[in-house]
Amino acid sequence: MGVMREKVFQFIDSRRNEMLASWETLVNMESGSLHKEDVDKVAAFLKETAESLGARSRLVEFAQAGNGLVAEFGVQTEKPHVCFLGHFDTVFPHGTVSERPFKIEDGKAYGPGVLDMKAGVVIQLYAAKALMEAGYSDRRICVVLAGDEETGHPKSDMPRVFEEQSKGACAAFNFETGDVSNALVVGRKGTTSYDMTVKGVSVHAGREPEKGRSAILEIAHKIIAIQALTDYDKGITFNVGTVKGGVARNAVPDHAEIGIDVRVMEPEQLDYVDKKIEEIAAHTYVEGTITTCVRGAGIPPMSRTPGNERLFDLVRRVSECLGFETPSAVVSGGGSDSSYSVKMGVPTIDQMGAKGQWNHSDREYAVVSSLFERAKLAAACVLDLDRL
Ligand SMILES: [Zn+2]
Repeated sequence: MGVMREKVFQFIDSRRNEMLASWETLVNMESGSLHKEDVDKVAAFLKETAESLGARSRLVEFAQAGNGLVAEFGVQTEKPHVCFLGHFDTVFPHGTVSERPFKIEDGKAYGPGVLDMKAGVVIQLYAAKALMEAGYSDRRICVVLAGDEETGHPKSDMPRVFEEQSKGACAAFNFETGDVSNALVVGRKGTTSYDMTVKGVSVHAGREPEKGRSAILEIAHKIIAIQALTDYDKGITFNVGTVKGGVARNAVPDHAEIGIDVRVMEPEQLDYVDKKIEEIAAHTYVEGTITTCVRGAGIPPMSRTPGNERLFDLVRRVSECLGFETPSAVVSGGGSDSSYSVKMGVPTIDQMGAKGQWNHSDREYAVVSSLFERAKLAAACVLDLDRL
């Protein structure tokens, strides 16, 4: 295996400039999740890129969400395949690229999505290509990329695509935003969300306030009840993150609404959360008010399975053997598409992308050298999968 690893590393080292150029091109293409047209252009560009690197690829098209992409390197063998997961949409609105295009300063790369996770897309495609170039033919490598990850796939069935493509795989690596601390993710909290609206009765606050039914007072009770459900020991947290209501200081408000974000550790906790939120919605504190509640987008948790632990051990061993910094294993509070491969029973490691900080903000950066290091790490792990 040593010779092949050597060839893989030589290939990655020889393509550094090409990888940087792809990264720059990718960051400089707008791909805010809500702009289907932008996202679709990136999907088409990546389809071409993957094909030029020797993959067979196809778009996964959606009417109302950004298209996804499946790219396959190598052919299916008697050994189970391996999956590389990720996304190419960003949280940034159209126009961000012209404000702050890709740039490199002092070994750090900047630009919208440079870390989350356009670096990861470059890493996975070149890791797969490097393996093929070195003559690796042990396992098919299946790259699955979403174009609507940042919004949680409300209008696509990418979750099903992730499940289908990862089914039967021996391992999956998600190239999401890596961490400067070198932590890798073996589990993730799941998220769910709710919008709760209260309708009351509006009257003049001075003339006959007793006839009013305050939607704000009703929702205030509900906010306190919801926040009180947070249980740090069980890893379930509730956050009322937005509140709106009322029109004037001297009117009893007949409208109030809140946005709720919930995080859970295990899939079963989602039912408990649903039940609790429903109970609070159904309980009336201010008689005469009416509450409605709608569940919004969410991502199921990525359970910390024994399979993930085994795969992490392999990644740690390979890291140490290569002389890279020893990674730590963490459970992250943020959701990702790794939930779907884990759900299919596939050992999965997340946060394998370039290392950096402050994604989802204009301070986002990625450490340039980690682009090559992580491509080598991923490829070396694939070469070692028989030891999983
Ligand atoms: Zn991401």
